Amino acid sequence: MPDTATRHDWTRAEVAALFALPFNELLHRAHSVHREHHDPNAVQVSTLLSIKTGGCPEDCAYCPQAARYDTGVQAQKLMSVEAVLERAQAAKDAGASRFCMGAAWRGPKDRDVLKVAEIVRAVKGLGLETCATLGMLSGAQADTLKSAGLDYYNHNLDTAPEFYGEVIHTRQYQDRLDTLEHVRHAGMKTCCGGIVGMGESRDQRAGLLQTLATLPEHPQSVPINQLVQVEGTPLNGIEALDPFEFVRTIAVARLLMPASMVRLSAGRQQMDDAVQALCFFAGANSIFYGEKLLTTGNPDVEHDRALFRRLDLHPLQVVEESSTVHADILETDAAGCGQGCGCSAAA
Ligand code: SF4
Repeated sequence: MPDTATRHDWTRAEVAALFALPFNELLHRAHSVHREHHDPNAVQVSTLLSIKTGGCPEDCAYCPQAARYDTGVQAQKLMSVEAVLERAQAAKDAGASRFCMGAAWRGPKDRDVLKVAEIVRAVKGLGLETCATLGMLSGAQADTLKSAGLDYYNHNLDTAPEFYGEVIHTRQYQDRLDTLEHVRHAGMKTCCGGIVGMGESRDQRAGLLQTLATLPEHPQSVPINQLVQVEGTPLNGIEALDPFEFVRTIAVARLLMPASMVRLSAGRQQMDDAVQALCFFAGANSIFYGEKLLTTGNPDVEHDRALFRRLDLHPLQVVEESSTVHADILETDAAGCGQGCGCSAAA
């Protein structure tokens, strides 16, 4: 099989043909490519903190943080540097290698970016990799965050270009692509994926993955979220996606972007263990342990630890920019993220 790590010319028809492969054939191909590029038993673990929650002016139909939907989310202001640092230290102690910070903004104001830059500097000082998701960025804002030491910027494309207008009306697909360009230009790594199960067709799922795989650089992290239906949001109550279709999406993402980390993100807590195991086989090699549940004895924490043990998986922990080491975090505190926001919580 040719090395497809640098292919950026996938056509929609080629991607659709991968989706249409017999399930076992698709999984075999995806797992084979996965093994060529990654340790199949290692899973990268990230921790997410919402540093500014709710009150967002955008209208993403899946998102409980949009101010216009009555979802019970309490809007909170941007956290202080000290408060974020405390959580980042706890995440580090729990074994997380990357600390992701999400803020529910359409895009930050310049003064917000300066505050976040201060937070990034402090978190970076703990020796953690940093990732932020703050909404749309200008080129200058991206440069400021890069200078502060931000490693990754999350900005999801959410879905196929032609389905985007069904889900979000307050911005355009091109706005997303522009921010991604600013992030790449500033020299940061991109974390970019989407959400499936929003009522899109299989061809539109193929369209999302084709768009990701034909960006000038494959995103270093590709979060694939399964819609978490939240009461009060427009997408609550739609027909759930067949779990095997979710596994197919992971497998196709792995085939298209062989060197990227494919992240099992929002929706993981709603998946049964067998589906998660299939996702890891198909090429998922990154998950979130959500910060909110960082408490010993939490059932979700214990469940994740047990699943890692049952599947003989080990966490991959970054120690330096260029090298990695495996670390045993299974006896420490950690948890899973279960929110459905594609901007911040489901990064
Ligand atoms: S996904 Fe992000 S931009 Fe959209 S409503 Fe939620 S917080 Fe706002």
